[in-house]
Amino acid sequence: MSTISVAICGAGLSGLCLAHSLLRAGFDVQVYERDLAPHARRQGYRITIDEHGIAALQRCLPPQLFKLFLATTSPIDETSYFRVTNQELGEIFRLTFKGDPSGTDLRTPRQIDRQTLRTIMLEGLQDRVHFGKEAIRAETTSEGATLYFSDGDYIHASLVVGADGVNSVLRKQFLPDYEPEDINSWGIYGRTLLDQNEGSVVPSSLKTSGVFAMGPSNLGFFFTTMRFGEAPQTAFARFGVNQIPPITDDYVMWGLVLPKEQFPEPQGKLSSEMLQRFAQEITQDFHPVLQRLVKQADVDYTMAVKFRAGKKPTAWSVPRTTFMGDALHVMPPTGSHGGNTALRDAALLAEKLEAAVIQSESLEKAIGSYQEEMSKYAFREVETSKAMMKRFTIKNPLMRWAMLRAIPRIRSITNKPITTE
Ligand SMILES: Cc1cc2nc3c(=O)[nH]c(=O)nc-3n(C[C@H](O)[C@H](O)[C@H](O)COP(=O)(O)OP(=O)(O)OC[C@H]3O[C@@H](n4cnc5c(N)ncnc54)[C@H](O)[C@@H]3O)c2cc1C
Repeated sequence: MSTISVAICGAGLSGLCLAHSLLRAGFDVQVYERDLAPHARRQGYRITIDEHGIAALQRCLPPQLFKLFLATTSPIDETSYFRVTNQELGEIFRLTFKGDPSGTDLRTPRQIDRQTLRTIMLEGLQDRVHFGKEAIRAETTSEGATLYFSDGDYIHASLVVGADGVNSVLRKQFLPDYEPEDINSWGIYGRTLLDQNEGSVVPSSLKTSGVFAMGPSNLGFFFTTMRFGEAPQTAFARFGVNQIPPITDDYVMWGLVLPKEQFPEPQGKLSSEMLQRFAQEITQDFHPVLQRLVKQADVDYTMAVKFRAGKKPTAWSVPRTTFMGDALHVMPPTGSHGGNTALRDAALLAEKLEAAVIQSESLEKAIGSYQEEMSKYAFREVETSKAMMKRFTIKNPLMRWAMLRAIPRIRSITNKPITTE
């Protein structure tokens, strides 16, 4: 068993998840990460982990870390909502979700802070994750693979896994015809502390809601709260985890979705300050609650993401290299499936590799079987997310008027309007 070495390129969600599982199964695993340190970049936003993500974490993480993950997720509300509104928070429609506050049903999605989850997953891998190692290319043969780094160093392994995210250098090298397509939309994300001097920045009626406010010219504003079930510092101490929790306060994650033409095409990289200022300008006709979220944001955390969608490879010709997550099947954020699918990949790849060892089958067969299964569900999610994204882009003027004006007006008469005090 110890002769099977796996080099994972990228210490993001999928890379760390796979590393835990393979390590527990006795593989020799090393993870190579471009960032210089665990928190070198602000990566703080909340993600919704669904049943696939939860099942993957349960399968791969040591039980104590899985319990710690559950402890730091948001409490599950008996009733929560996803509301689609116009820019004045007039409701167009809402979806109601019934949840079990005991949290025992692991099929119920829950919210976690991404940076907190990543910190939890770094526990136990301290001597396996190598920071400041930027992969630049790999060479593979039928016997194994060599991974080369920007500092001139290289390593050999039985298998190289590209978990290096949306701009994957390994995908560019091995699957040059499958660069993700640009879907002509950008997102600007930010976070705002939930409790500030004058109280909560979100009215209590909206604390258990995800809200997507549709504005003019297909501009959309999304927000949701991230409330820690147990304060991360208490939970980390309770589970004896020796990492410093990166985030300790509840916050609101907000995101602006805007068509490509409205995004200030960067001449260089736009700074967080510039992005936040721009976000303030284009939301000045939105409801004051939404404007306040942008105005009072933690500027450092404001970032822009170009939405892209992965292309399904029809041929995989590389014997000892494979891919997981955004490196292969990045998708727009609609539906919250990107991270979950990445975690699902990690669990599936771990299962296939571990089974190959037990059944004395070849790694090639295991990788082939993983790629075949993964491609089916992952690219289904890509298509679903793209279709959802389109649904929020209404071009027909009559339809827009009905959605943004008529329906909210009718609903404000027939339903109780959202209270924003
Ligand atoms: C604001 C926001 C909200 C989101 N919300 C959700 C959600 O609610 N639910 C959901 O499922 N998904 C969500 N996503 C998507 C999710 O975060 C990604 O799909 C997920 O992180 C992908 O995981 P990954 O392991 O493929 O890549 P990543 O987590 O992106 O990790 C890639 C890693 O590779 C490293 N790397 C890159 N290049 C190299 C290199 N050359 N050499 C070495 N290392 C390298 C990077 O530094 C990084 O650490 C959200 C994304 C954003 C931006």
